[in-house]
Amino acid sequence: MQYYRAALKRRYHLLFRSGELQKRAEALSKRLGACDICPRSCGVNRFEGSGGYCKSGMMVSVASRCAHHGEEPALSGTRGSGTIFFSSCNLNCIYCQNSQISQGHGRYEQVDSRGLAQMMLYLQEELQCHNINLVSPTHYVPQIVEAICQAVPLGLNIPIVYNTNAYDSLETISALDGVVDIYLPDIKYASDKWAQRFSDARKYAEYSRLAIAEMYRQVGNLITDDKGIAQSGLIIRHLILPNRLAGSEDSLKWVAAALSRDVTLSIMAQYYPCHHASREPLLARRVTASEYRVVVEIVNSLGLDNGWLQQLDSAEHYLPDFHREGHPFSR
Ligand code: SF4
Repeated sequence: MQYYRAALKRRYHLLFRSGELQKRAEALSKRLGACDICPRSCGVNRFEGSGGYCKSGMMVSVASRCAHHGEEPALSGTRGSGTIFFSSCNLNCIYCQNSQISQGHGRYEQVDSRGLAQMMLYLQEELQCHNINLVSPTHYVPQIVEAICQAVPLGLNIPIVYNTNAYDSLETISALDGVVDIYLPDIKYASDKWAQRFSDARKYAEYSRLAIAEMYRQVGNLITDDKGIAQSGLIIRHLILPNRLAGSEDSLKWVAAALSRDVTLSIMAQYYPCHHASREPLLARRVTASEYRVVVEIVNSLGLDNGWLQQLDSAEHYLPDFHREGHPFSR
Protein backbone atom coordinates (compact mmCIF):
# COMPACT_ATOMS: atom_id res chain seq x y z
CA MET A 1 0.00 0.00 0.00
CA GLN A 2 2.84 2.34 0.80
CA TYR A 3 4.27 1.76 -2.68
CA TYR A 4 0.89 2.28 -4.36
CA ARG A 5 0.49 5.69 -2.68
CA ALA A 6 4.03 6.58 -3.62
CA ALA A 7 3.41 5.52 -7.21
CA LEU A 8 0.96 8.35 -7.62
CA LYS A 9 3.53 10.85 -6.49
CA ARG A 10 6.73 10.82 -8.53
CA ARG A 11 7.48 10.76 -12.22
CA TYR A 12 10.17 8.14 -11.64
CA HIS A 13 7.44 5.78 -10.37
CA LEU A 14 5.61 6.09 -13.66
CA LEU A 15 8.82 5.30 -15.55
CA PHE A 16 9.37 2.28 -13.32
CA ARG A 17 5.85 0.95 -13.81
CA SER A 18 6.09 1.23 -17.59
CA GLY A 19 9.50 -0.50 -17.65
CA GLU A 20 11.12 2.61 -19.11
CA LEU A 21 13.31 3.22 -16.06
CA GLN A 22 14.83 -0.25 -16.34
CA LYS A 23 15.45 0.32 -20.09
CA ARG A 24 17.21 3.61 -19.35
CA ALA A 25 19.38 1.94 -16.72
CA GLU A 26 20.39 -0.77 -19.21
CA ALA A 27 21.16 1.70 -21.98
CA LEU A 28 23.23 3.89 -19.65
CA SER A 29 25.09 0.89 -18.29
CA LYS A 30 26.06 -0.23 -21.81
CA ARG A 31 27.75 3.12 -22.35
CA LEU A 32 30.20 2.27 -19.55
CA GLY A 33 31.82 -0.22 -21.91
CA ALA A 34 33.37 2.71 -23.82
CA CYS A 35 32.55 5.48 -21.39
CA ASP A 36 30.99 8.63 -22.81
CA ILE A 37 28.87 9.43 -19.78
CA CYS A 38 30.30 12.93 -19.48
CA PRO A 39 31.75 15.37 -22.06
CA ARG A 40 35.25 13.96 -21.61
CA SER A 41 34.21 10.83 -23.53
CA CYS A 42 37.25 8.92 -22.31
CA GLY A 43 36.16 5.75 -24.14
CA VAL A 44 37.53 3.48 -21.39
CA ASN A 45 35.89 0.22 -20.42
CA ARG A 46 34.64 0.78 -16.89
CA PHE A 47 33.54 -2.83 -16.53
CA GLU A 48 37.22 -3.69 -16.50
CA GLY A 49 38.83 -0.83 -14.65
CA SER A 50 38.88 2.80 -13.67
CA GLY A 51 41.29 4.31 -16.17
CA GLY A 52 39.17 7.30 -17.19
CA TYR A 53 39.62 10.90 -16.11
CA CYS A 54 37.29 10.43 -13.11
CA LYS A 55 39.14 7.23 -12.04
CA SER A 56 35.80 5.49 -11.45
CA GLY A 57 34.90 1.95 -12.40
CA MET A 58 31.71 0.01 -11.80
CA MET A 59 31.58 0.19 -8.02
CA VAL A 60 30.31 3.45 -6.56
CA SER A 61 32.56 5.30 -4.10
CA VAL A 62 30.61 7.20 -1.46
CA ALA A 63 32.47 9.56 0.88
CA SER A 64 29.53 10.43 3.09
CA ARG A 65 25.78 10.13 3.44
CA CYS A 66 24.01 12.37 5.88
CA ALA A 67 21.16 14.76 6.58
CA HIS A 68 22.60 18.06 5.35
CA HIS A 69 21.19 21.17 6.99
CA GLY A 70 23.32 23.68 5.10
CA GLU A 71 21.77 23.45 1.65
CA GLU A 72 19.29 26.01 0.33
CA PRO A 73 16.25 26.25 2.67
CA ALA A 74 13.90 24.61 0.16
CA LEU A 75 16.20 21.55 0.12
CA SER A 76 17.30 21.30 3.76
CA GLY A 77 13.90 22.21 5.23
CA THR A 78 13.58 21.04 8.83
CA ARG A 79 14.79 17.45 8.51
CA GLY A 80 17.74 17.95 6.21
CA SER A 81 18.59 17.09 2.64
CA GLY A 82 19.53 13.41 2.29
CA THR A 83 22.95 13.96 0.84
CA ILE A 84 25.12 11.33 -0.80
CA PHE A 85 28.61 12.69 -1.50
CA PHE A 86 30.21 10.69 -4.28
CA SER A 87 33.95 10.36 -4.35
CA SER A 88 35.97 11.49 -7.42
CA CYS A 89 34.84 14.03 -10.00
CA ASN A 90 34.97 14.72 -13.72
CA LEU A 91 36.40 18.21 -13.06
CA ASN A 92 39.66 19.12 -11.39
CA CYS A 93 39.07 22.59 -9.95
CA ILE A 94 42.19 23.99 -8.36
CA TYR A 95 40.04 25.67 -5.69
CA CYS A 96 37.82 22.66 -4.94
CA GLN A 97 36.42 22.81 -1.40
CA ASN A 98 35.69 19.07 -1.53
CA SER A 99 39.15 18.07 -2.74
CA GLN A 100 39.44 15.49 0.06
CA ILE A 101 36.89 13.45 -1.86
CA SER A 102 36.86 14.84 -5.40
CA GLN A 103 40.38 13.62 -6.05
CA GLY A 104 39.66 10.26 -4.44
CA HIS A 105 42.16 10.64 -1.58
CA GLY A 106 39.78 10.64 1.40
CA ARG A 107 37.94 7.79 3.06
CA TYR A 108 35.11 6.29 1.12
CA GLU A 109 32.86 3.29 1.06
CA GLN A 110 32.44 1.25 -2.12
CA VAL A 111 28.97 -0.04 -2.94
CA ASP A 112 27.14 -1.53 -5.89
CA SER A 113 23.79 -0.19 -7.08
CA ARG A 114 21.99 -2.32 -4.50
CA GLY A 115 24.09 -0.76 -1.73
CA LEU A 116 23.37 2.68 -3.16
CA ALA A 117 19.63 1.90 -3.13
CA GLN A 118 19.92 0.95 0.55
CA MET A 119 21.59 4.31 1.28
CA MET A 120 18.71 6.14 -0.39
CA LEU A 121 16.20 4.24 1.71
CA TYR A 122 18.21 4.87 4.88
CA LEU A 123 18.13 8.63 4.21
CA GLN A 124 14.39 8.49 3.58
CA GLU A 125 13.29 6.09 6.29
CA GLU A 126 15.82 6.42 9.11
CA LEU A 127 16.81 10.08 8.81
CA GLN A 128 13.46 11.22 7.37
CA CYS A 129 15.17 13.54 4.90
CA HIS A 130 13.18 15.63 2.46
CA ASN A 131 15.01 14.42 -0.65
CA ILE A 132 17.91 12.35 -2.01
CA ASN A 133 20.64 14.86 -2.86
CA LEU A 134 23.24 13.32 -5.20
CA VAL A 135 26.42 15.41 -4.97
CA SER A 136 28.82 15.12 -7.94
CA PRO A 137 26.71 12.40 -9.54
CA THR A 138 27.79 12.77 -13.17
CA HIS A 139 30.27 9.90 -13.41
CA TYR A 140 27.87 7.51 -11.64
CA VAL A 141 24.65 8.20 -13.54
CA PRO A 142 24.22 4.58 -14.80
CA GLN A 143 24.66 3.15 -11.31
CA ILE A 144 22.34 5.80 -9.83
CA VAL A 145 19.51 5.00 -12.25
CA GLU A 146 19.99 1.29 -11.55
CA ALA A 147 19.84 2.04 -7.79
CA ILE A 148 16.59 3.98 -8.21
CA CYS A 149 15.15 0.98 -10.09
CA GLN A 150 15.95 -1.14 -7.05
CA ALA A 151 14.79 1.41 -4.47
CA VAL A 152 11.37 2.17 -6.01
CA PRO A 153 9.74 -1.20 -5.22
CA LEU A 154 11.14 -0.89 -1.70
CA GLY A 155 9.30 2.41 -1.18
CA LEU A 156 11.54 5.26 -2.37
CA ASN A 157 9.21 8.20 -2.79
CA ILE A 158 11.05 11.46 -2.09
CA PRO A 159 12.41 13.85 -4.74
CA ILE A 160 15.72 13.06 -6.42
CA VAL A 161 18.13 16.02 -6.54
CA TYR A 162 20.90 16.03 -9.16
CA ASN A 163 23.57 18.29 -7.64
CA THR A 164 26.12 18.75 -10.41
CA ASN A 165 29.02 20.88 -11.62
CA ALA A 166 27.09 20.93 -14.96
CA TYR A 167 29.94 19.41 -16.94
CA ASP A 168 27.36 16.93 -18.16
CA SER A 169 26.68 15.56 -21.61
CA LEU A 170 23.38 16.37 -23.24
CA GLU A 171 22.79 12.69 -23.99
CA THR A 172 23.19 11.71 -20.34
CA ILE A 173 20.95 14.49 -19.05
CA SER A 174 18.33 13.55 -21.66
CA ALA A 175 18.32 10.01 -20.22
CA LEU A 176 17.38 11.48 -16.82
CA ASP A 177 14.12 13.01 -18.06
CA GLY A 178 11.48 11.94 -15.55
CA VAL A 179 14.07 10.38 -13.24
CA VAL A 180 15.35 13.55 -11.60
CA ASP A 181 12.88 15.84 -9.85
CA ILE A 182 15.18 18.72 -8.95
CA TYR A 183 18.24 19.79 -10.90
CA LEU A 184 20.84 21.74 -8.92
CA PRO A 185 23.59 22.63 -11.40
CA ASP A 186 26.45 25.05 -10.91
CA ILE A 187 27.10 27.60 -13.59
CA LYS A 188 30.80 27.98 -12.93
CA TYR A 189 32.25 29.88 -15.86
CA ALA A 190 31.25 31.88 -18.90
CA SER A 191 34.76 31.67 -20.32
CA ASP A 192 36.25 28.47 -21.69
CA LYS A 193 39.69 29.92 -21.10
CA TRP A 194 39.18 30.13 -17.33
CA ALA A 195 37.36 26.79 -17.24
CA GLN A 196 40.33 25.14 -18.91
CA ARG A 197 42.86 26.84 -16.67
CA PHE A 198 41.14 26.43 -13.31
CA SER A 199 39.07 23.24 -13.78
CA ASP A 200 40.79 21.46 -16.67
CA ALA A 201 37.47 21.50 -18.52
CA ARG A 202 37.35 22.00 -22.27
CA LYS A 203 34.32 23.92 -23.58
CA TYR A 204 32.71 24.14 -20.14
CA ALA A 205 30.50 27.10 -21.09
CA GLU A 206 29.07 25.31 -24.11
CA TYR A 207 28.50 21.95 -22.42
CA SER A 208 27.09 23.40 -19.22
CA ARG A 209 24.66 25.69 -21.03
CA LEU A 210 23.39 22.87 -23.23
CA ALA A 211 22.93 20.67 -20.15
CA ILE A 212 21.22 23.35 -18.06
CA ALA A 213 18.85 24.28 -20.89
CA GLU A 214 17.84 20.60 -21.13
CA MET A 215 17.39 20.40 -17.35
CA TYR A 216 15.09 23.43 -17.49
CA ARG A 217 13.14 21.93 -20.39
CA GLN A 218 12.54 18.82 -18.28
CA VAL A 219 11.59 20.29 -14.91
CA GLY A 220 10.87 24.02 -15.35
CA ASN A 221 10.74 26.45 -12.47
CA LEU A 222 11.01 25.44 -8.84
CA ILE A 223 7.83 24.13 -7.24
CA THR A 224 7.57 23.79 -3.46
CA ASP A 225 4.95 22.24 -1.23
CA ASP A 226 2.90 24.18 1.30
CA LYS A 227 5.81 24.04 3.76
CA GLY A 228 8.26 25.53 1.26
CA ILE A 229 10.05 22.22 0.56
CA ALA A 230 11.21 21.75 -3.03
CA GLN A 231 9.32 19.11 -5.02
CA SER A 232 10.55 19.73 -8.55
CA GLY A 233 12.29 22.26 -10.75
CA LEU A 234 15.62 23.90 -11.43
CA ILE A 235 17.88 25.77 -9.00
CA ILE A 236 21.07 27.19 -10.51
CA ARG A 237 24.03 27.79 -8.23
CA HIS A 238 26.59 30.42 -9.12
CA LEU A 239 29.77 30.78 -7.08
CA ILE A 240 31.26 34.26 -7.29
CA LEU A 241 35.00 34.07 -7.93
CA PRO A 242 37.62 36.78 -7.28
CA ASN A 243 38.61 39.05 -10.15
CA ARG A 244 35.31 38.35 -11.94
CA LEU A 245 36.68 35.02 -13.15
CA ALA A 246 33.28 33.32 -12.95
CA GLY A 247 31.92 35.61 -15.66
CA SER A 248 28.89 36.33 -13.49
CA GLU A 249 27.38 39.00 -15.73
CA ASP A 250 27.63 36.88 -18.88
CA SER A 251 26.22 33.77 -17.19
CA LEU A 252 23.36 35.58 -15.48
CA LYS A 253 22.40 37.37 -18.69
CA TRP A 254 22.34 33.98 -20.41
CA VAL A 255 20.03 32.58 -17.70
CA ALA A 256 17.63 35.51 -18.06
CA ALA A 257 17.61 35.42 -21.88
CA ALA A 258 17.88 31.71 -22.71
CA LEU A 259 15.85 30.30 -19.80
CA SER A 260 13.72 32.74 -17.86
CA ARG A 261 13.87 35.55 -15.32
CA ASP A 262 11.77 33.28 -13.11
CA VAL A 263 14.54 30.71 -12.69
CA THR A 264 15.55 30.17 -9.07
CA LEU A 265 19.15 31.16 -8.37
CA SER A 266 21.47 30.48 -5.48
CA ILE A 267 24.24 33.06 -5.54
CA MET A 268 27.14 31.81 -3.45
CA ALA A 269 29.75 34.05 -1.86
CA GLN A 270 31.55 31.32 0.08
CA TYR A 271 34.61 31.17 -2.16
CA TYR A 272 37.72 30.39 -0.15
CA PRO A 273 41.13 29.60 -1.70
CA CYS A 274 41.14 25.86 -0.91
CA HIS A 275 43.15 23.01 -2.41
CA HIS A 276 45.76 24.46 -4.85
CA ALA A 277 44.17 27.91 -5.22
CA SER A 278 46.90 29.65 -3.24
CA ARG A 279 49.30 28.84 -6.11
CA GLU A 280 47.16 30.82 -8.54
CA PRO A 281 47.50 34.57 -7.91
CA LEU A 282 44.12 35.35 -9.47
CA LEU A 283 42.35 32.98 -7.08
CA ALA A 284 44.47 33.31 -3.95
CA ARG A 285 42.05 35.46 -1.98
CA ARG A 286 38.41 35.65 -1.04
CA VAL A 287 35.82 37.74 -2.89
CA THR A 288 35.80 41.40 -1.91
CA ALA A 289 32.74 43.34 -0.78
CA SER A 290 32.76 45.36 -3.98
CA GLU A 291 32.96 42.23 -6.18
CA TYR A 292 30.03 40.80 -4.24
CA ARG A 293 28.00 44.02 -4.60
CA VAL A 294 28.54 44.08 -8.37
CA VAL A 295 27.01 40.59 -8.73
CA VAL A 296 24.07 41.49 -6.48
CA GLU A 297 23.43 44.55 -8.66
CA ILE A 298 23.52 42.41 -11.82
CA VAL A 299 21.00 39.98 -10.32
CA ASN A 300 18.71 42.84 -9.39
CA SER A 301 19.06 44.70 -12.68
CA LEU A 302 18.19 41.56 -14.66
CA GLY A 303 15.05 41.02 -12.56
CA LEU A 304 16.23 37.62 -11.38
CA ASP A 305 14.16 37.83 -8.24
CA ASN A 306 13.81 34.17 -7.23
CA GLY A 307 16.28 32.43 -4.98
CA TRP A 308 18.92 33.08 -2.38
CA LEU A 309 21.91 35.39 -1.96
CA GLN A 310 24.54 34.01 0.36
CA GLN A 311 26.16 36.53 2.72
CA LEU A 312 29.80 37.36 2.12
CA ASP A 313 30.97 36.13 5.53
CA SER A 314 29.81 32.55 4.87
CA ALA A 315 33.07 30.88 3.88
CA GLU A 316 34.00 29.27 7.18
CA HIS A 317 30.49 27.90 7.69
CA TYR A 318 30.48 25.90 4.49
CA LEU A 319 33.83 24.14 4.47
CA PRO A 320 33.31 20.41 4.99
CA ASP A 321 35.82 18.00 6.51
CA PHE A 322 35.51 14.52 5.04
CA HIS A 323 38.30 13.17 7.26
CA ARG A 324 36.11 13.69 10.33
CA GLU A 325 34.14 10.75 11.73
CA GLY A 326 30.42 11.18 11.09
CA HIS A 327 29.02 14.34 9.57
CA PRO A 328 31.37 16.36 7.31
CA PHE A 329 29.73 19.66 8.25
CA SER A 330 29.61 19.26 12.03
CA ARG A 331 31.87 21.47 14.15
S1 SF4 B 1 32.41 9.58 -16.61
FE1 SF4 B 1 34.63 9.37 -16.14
S2 SF4 B 1 35.38 7.76 -17.52
FE2 SF4 B 1 33.37 8.42 -18.29
S3 SF4 B 1 33.79 9.98 -19.83
FE3 SF4 B 1 33.50 11.07 -17.89
S4 SF4 B 1 35.52 11.28 -16.93
FE4 SF4 B 1 35.66 9.73 -18.56
